[in-house]
Amino acid sequence: QDILLEVKNLKKYFPVKKGLFKNSVQYVKAVDDVSFYIRKGETLGLVGESGCGKSTTGRTIIRLYDPTEGQIIFDGHDIAKLNQNQLKEFRKKVQMIFQDPYASLNSRMTVGDIIGEALDIHKIATGKERLEIIHDLLQRVGLQPDHATRYPHEFSGGQRQRIGIARALAVQPQFIIADEPISALDVSIQAQVVNMLEDLQKDLNLTYLFIAHDLSMVKHISDRIGVMYLGKLVEITDSDELYKNPIHPYTKALLSAIPIPDPNIAKASKRIILQGDVPSPLNPPSGCRFRTRCKYAMPICSEYEPSLVNVSENHSVACHLVNK
Ligand code: SF4
Ligand code: MG
Repeated sequence: QDILLEVKNLKKYFPVKKGLFKNSVQYVKAVDDVSFYIRKGETLGLVGESGCGKSTTGRTIIRLYDPTEGQIIFDGHDIAKLNQNQLKEFRKKVQMIFQDPYASLNSRMTVGDIIGEALDIHKIATGKERLEIIHDLLQRVGLQPDHATRYPHEFSGGQRQRIGIARALAVQPQFIIADEPISALDVSIQAQVVNMLEDLQKDLNLTYLFIAHDLSMVKHISDRIGVMYLGKLVEITDSDELYKNPIHPYTKALLSAIPIPDPNIAKASKRIILQGDVPSPLNPPSGCRFRTRCKYAMPICSEYEPSLVNVSENHSVACHLVNK
């Protein structure tokens, strides 16, 4: 299968001024040397606690943030090097769906204009044709054509997320970055939205990067899953393999936190409670960044950073337990 997106050694550092010494600048290393690829038509789930860099990774890929270092190769082109005009073209191919479907919709615009705005910006359609596209998109996401004249506040959270998805689809993108698209929705609505995203993927031949904070949310939709911790990718493999044979201690802890025990999930019976909080990304632990919370931590873990290595075909892990 062809690779649509390849991220190579991506870094995104945010400068932070320290009050005491005006000239000293520290960096939050939000994404620190992350590499992965996504094949055409597949879904890569990206999972980790808040502050692990998963959203920043998504936002840097779509160039809402400029990367500090590294390459973002989309369909053969390095996105990191695009100028403003080229970026506009790129944004027709790549769209983002946000976590909060209310905050991301302009409350003063009708649903039709929210969806139609992208058609206007990219000069895709006007007049009757524009309206037909809007009506078609509303139906694709399970809403009615006459919803086009209404305003976002008239809709439920799940419906608003459907509007956000229709807006993303308006430019006929190839690739969608969904940043926690179901986290803010009622549990009863989450599966509906995930199923709809899967149907749209098949119908429209879409590729997804699906970002979530826990592994239960990405289980059904992902072909492959990457787990991030404090700016690092710590494990990445096929979805089935991750649930059956998790290797990184952090992945095991995340899996054990899935509320409903699933016979297909390894070690689901015993919850692993992680000690302590996630350390500050301003001053991450030396060596393995997970070591302050890892019950397997060894002397080498504070000295050397484990690199991501293949443990089998399509399964990579960054941990000294497997990379000695
Ligand atoms: Fe734990 Fe060491 Fe592996 Fe890090 S490298 S996850 S501290 S065993
Ligand atoms: Mg986030």
